[in-house]
Amino acid sequence: MFTSLSDRLTATFKSLRGKGKLSESDVNKTVRDIRMALLEADVALPVVKDFTQAVRERALSAEVSEALNPAQQVVKIVNDELVDILGQHTRPLRLAKTAPTVIMLAGLQGSGKTTLAGKLAKWFKDQGDTPLLVAADLQRPNAVTQLEVVGQRAGVPVFAPERGNVGGHDAVGPTGEGTRSYGDPVEVAEDGIQHAISKLYNVVIVDTAGRLAVDEELMEQAADIKDAIEPDEVLFVIDAMIGQAAVETAQAFQEGIDFSGVVLTKLDGDARGGAALSVAKITGRPIMFASTGEGLKEFEIFHPDRMASRILDMGDMLTLIEQAERAFDAKQAAEMERKFLAAEDFTFDDFLQQMAAIKKMGSLKSMLKMMPGMNQIRDQLDAFDEREFDRIEAMIRSMTPFERNHPKQINGSRRARIAAGSGVTVSQVNDLLVRFGEAQKMMKALAKGGSIPGMPGMPG
Ligand code: GDP
Repeated sequence: MFTSLSDRLTATFKSLRGKGKLSESDVNKTVRDIRMALLEADVALPVVKDFTQAVRERALSAEVSEALNPAQQVVKIVNDELVDILGQHTRPLRLAKTAPTVIMLAGLQGSGKTTLAGKLAKWFKDQGDTPLLVAADLQRPNAVTQLEVVGQRAGVPVFAPERGNVGGHDAVGPTGEGTRSYGDPVEVAEDGIQHAISKLYNVVIVDTAGRLAVDEELMEQAADIKDAIEPDEVLFVIDAMIGQAAVETAQAFQEGIDFSGVVLTKLDGDARGGAALSVAKITGRPIMFASTGEGLKEFEIFHPDRMASRILDMGDMLTLIEQAERAFDAKQAAEMERKFLAAEDFTFDDFLQQMAAIKKMGSLKSMLKMMPGMNQIRDQLDAFDEREFDRIEAMIRSMTPFERNHPKQINGSRRARIAAGSGVTVSQVNDLLVRFGEAQKMMKALAKGGSIPGMPGMPG
């Protein structure tokens, strides 16, 4: 995510480190480097200009010259300004006073609208809402089916037009939710809302058609849908990888339908992505969500401050904590904490539970990537084979309950049995037991208030 920008900026800061006072030429050089980094990342020129001007002014002011650590102060300024271009504050979704809340999605074809519809639907559902997806993208023959597939994956019903008129399909979609004749997307959207009202769905997500490039007809259709259904939010979905075209596209959609918020997709790609960063500043509309993969869970609320610190490689501890809260249930966490404080042995059963929770949070790799300093070892992370976890899980599942709770008692013949049961070699089992023993010791030492050699102190 924004890797090259991130690399460039962190390199710039590195060259500042260790400098006591910053001269005007230090500041100028830093600002030049930042400017290059932003331009190379495809951040739009007017945004870059404002950004660097603000950084320069502040870096030359007393704020920095009187600071204890000028270099750090500059990093903070860059962070502040990044937060500013990203929209300052997290903007929550506007919900309707009387249900249903109606959310309309618009954007170019391939921007990730349909995928996002599924992610949003699942997100609402997980919070106890009752979402309905409405397939008002009748442009691409496959779009309705695709939304139905996404709906099924998310476990959310889809209101789709009847396919009778376009040949061969069942009159009723796979989910059995309403039907109507294939044709006018405005009518489909309206009927979808009526359906939601009568069936008491409290959120309606309307997927609309996209084209490969901005065109009048598409924009009019989207505007007509908007006028007809009066959505609480119109989300403009934009692929972060489309480069400089992002700004133009965003402006066209802003004129055409005046969206209320932006969703950045494909942030998992390591392309330059900076153009998408300009969208909030240029349109004055907040970025509300980010999509970071094809899976339904790869979806986040967009927090400008956290994204800025991620770009500056300060990690994103808050997002991690939030995800962990979603994944671990409170009882399990309390039990884990009790055991930990009592310095009781951490067992393989505990470990299995933790692995399951981590899996719930999405991929371990994407989690690790959010931690501070991880940018440095990104290549190793990319090379890491997530299947290793499956192997470990298979080994643990091949252990008896006694073995899981008494790892030290696992002797040679037990090891051979576990290896055979999980399809790994005995040396892989040995390896796991050794590493597990070390982890156990480490946790005990920590619980007793000791510290682990070689571990940097955690802030706060
Ligand atoms: P639509 O035409 O706007 O409805 O776009 P789709 O939802 O069909 O997405 C287009 C392609 O992008 C599909 O192959 C998706 O799987 C993929 N996609 C969508 N969102 C993401 C994302 O956040 N990351 C990645 N890597 N792929 C995505």
